[in-house]
Amino acid sequence: MDEFLRFTPLVQERVWGGRALETKLGRPLPPGGRPIGESWEIVDRPEAQSVVVGGTFAGQTLRQVLEKHSAEIMGPNWPAEKPFPILVNWLDCRERLSLQVHPPAVVAAKLGGEPKTENWFVAAAEPGAHLIVGLKPGVTREKFEAAVAAGTAEACVNRFPVAAGDSVLVRSGQVHAIDGGNLILEIQQNSDTTYRVDDWGRVGLDGKPRQLHVAESLQSILWDEAAPQVVKAADKFCMLAQAREFQILYTAHKTGAKLDFDAEEGPCILSIVKGRLTSAHGELKRGDNILVPYSASFVLTVAEDAQVLLTLGFCGRGPHDNEHIKEAENCPAEDLAATWIEQQSHDDGEDWAIRRVTQLCEPVSDPEEVWPIILRLVELSINDQRLSDVAAGPLEDLICNHGGQIISRVEIQAKMNPKFRRCLSGIWGWSSMPEAMQARIKKVVGDEKLQLPPTGS
Ligand SMILES: [Zn+2]
Repeated sequence: MDEFLRFTPLVQERVWGGRALETKLGRPLPPGGRPIGESWEIVDRPEAQSVVVGGTFAGQTLRQVLEKHSAEIMGPNWPAEKPFPILVNWLDCRERLSLQVHPPAVVAAKLGGEPKTENWFVAAAEPGAHLIVGLKPGVTREKFEAAVAAGTAEACVNRFPVAAGDSVLVRSGQVHAIDGGNLILEIQQNSDTTYRVDDWGRVGLDGKPRQLHVAESLQSILWDEAAPQVVKAADKFCMLAQAREFQILYTAHKTGAKLDFDAEEGPCILSIVKGRLTSAHGELKRGDNILVPYSASFVLTVAEDAQVLLTLGFCGRGPHDNEHIKEAENCPAEDLAATWIEQQSHDDGEDWAIRRVTQLCEPVSDPEEVWPIILRLVELSINDQRLSDVAAGPLEDLICNHGGQIISRVEIQAKMNPKFRRCLSGIWGWSSMPEAMQARIKKVVGDEKLQLPPTGS
């Protein structure tokens, strides 16, 4: 196919919303001056469906298109009944949003909700606009709970100023809010589970206080999460977000440049945050979001200096090079750890568990998924050789790739658990680790010393 999919936006009235979609993005809004807080740009949910505008699939919902053409749109491995994994949303926050959290996958399964990792790209910000993400260092569950009860939760959260072009990834389990004065492009997992911690004393559109979910929130918050990283979109090309669920790339293009899309490169979402592009299928301008199908190949021409976000990697990995990898993806953490130990001990050519764990430590993966596996590997290691293999393998990869997010946990674990400390002392690749990180690890390791090189070294 030679076309992309564009959809009719679904605008949502919100008590904290405004009219910036009209004033800043030039979009027509329903008359009457009602506060519009969200515009769902790409959505495939039972209660809300994007409808295709123009082209071969005009008038069909995203669900209908995926049911009949999943291989063309999502690639050969995508099950037709599976919902589109990403929801793209414009947020016009005239006032501050409630303080909220989305449950991490493990908690979501228990509470009957869905996890949601989201990324905020600030498209416009009024002077003094702020975001709130995560807890201040040292805030424990007890402190936070007391503060919420006393109405002083704001003192516990990390609030920082932002400007247009800033981007921040908010993971499931991180408490967050958006302050007034932000126009944000939100790219998130397709989920609708939100636990509201605090609504700042406000009432809803019906004049009544909105429901809070403090108990669920307390279960969902990750208490030792590292501070969020604000990425400033700059230069021609930079990575804004790397999560297991999706990656977002920022690209800037000069007038006259061409953007080529080739078939079978995996589907992606294009979000135009500045400028204008043209194509055989019409013009794209600031604010537009399109879905580029897996099988599509076409060219866009930049008609006016443009900034474009590319969201990728939301279909899982490409065709698998080994049938075991698919098996490995569904393998429970316990079994994966046990198989890792077995494969490390017997060099019989079977290594799918080792490769899967390595994959889970990669920069694009979610460290939350591999952390319990590493703890289990340490537990299952019956000798120093195995501890050395864990240290020089997944533990080292995790620290090198996700140090900021897990270093405090590594320190605590090393203090509590002598076997973990011994494992940590077996790290081999110091050179690929930032110096500050090395210093923190060496400090907690102390005199402990694993003398063995890892297997295969
Ligand atoms: Zn949220």
